[in-house]
Amino acid sequence: MPSKKPRVAIVSLTSCEGCQFALFDLGEKFLNFLKRVKIEEFRLIEDEIGIEEEIKKNKSVPKDKIQYDFSFVEGSPITEEDLKILKELRIRSKKLIVLGNCAALGGIPEIKNYQNKEKTIRYVYKNLEGIANPEIKEIDNFVKVDLTIPGCPIDGEEFLRIANDLLVGKLVKIPQRPVCYECQLKEYECLLQKKELCLGPIILGGCQAICLKSKMSCFGCRGILAGAKSEKLLNLIKKQRSKEDLEETLEIFGIKDELEDVLGRDRE
Ligand code: SF4
Ligand code: SF4
Ligand code: SF4
Repeated sequence: MPSKKPRVAIVSLTSCEGCQFALFDLGEKFLNFLKRVKIEEFRLIEDEIGIEEEIKKNKSVPKDKIQYDFSFVEGSPITEEDLKILKELRIRSKKLIVLGNCAALGGIPEIKNYQNKEKTIRYVYKNLEGIANPEIKEIDNFVKVDLTIPGCPIDGEEFLRIANDLLVGKLVKIPQRPVCYECQLKEYECLLQKKELCLGPIILGGCQAICLKSKMSCFGCRGILAGAKSEKLLNLIKKQRSKEDLEETLEIFGIKDELEDVLGRDRE
């Protein structure tokens, strides 16, 4: 008898695979999750690579043939193969959920968009033959995204909460609170008040303000909080730091382009 368990694909495009490893860090909790679903694709635990193998063999799938209830995808669509895999995944999936900052916001690879990308790639590769070097774009530029699990890497516990809601058909809600909310609840010292650059007031919380625990500023890996008063914070930071400092910080996790409106107003 065919399995009634929800069919799940966990797929990685060009990335460090850190978001997938955050799942392994859950240990037994992740094993328990795996028991509730039918894993159709997960390169880190399988020898066979479904979509990737089929793409390489140029096999196509009828557009109405949905194979996965939920697909989770991390990383950036950089190579032509990444793009084919992503589009194929979208066709086959009822819900496509992006995992992490690279997939959702362009992430660390997006820094290249703001630098000379021809020069930047030479820091990594001596021989550029066959190396893709496109402008980095978020996954939702290419396919419809149903949900985003934020972070760099994602928070494993948050993944489990969201995945469990998805499995029982519950509406997924990520509380819209800034990083400052958790930071202050935990009574961490406020770096912004010490005139250090911290983006906490405009960044989506849910990470337990983990960077602030180690007295490191929030650089925004979970993305901009809905309705954030970005202009107010950026104006405050500009009084304390150079424009270059601010813009370089916004480039780290791909949020500079999200704030182009506010930054552009300043440049006019
Ligand atoms: S979001 Fe961070 S951890 Fe996840 S793939 Fe990108 S760089 Fe790696
Ligand atoms: S340190 Fe950063 S995150 Fe914490 S309260 Fe201050 S501005 Fe907010
Ligand atoms: S504190 Fe900021 S940079 Fe650190 S994990 Fe949370 S959202 Fe990401």
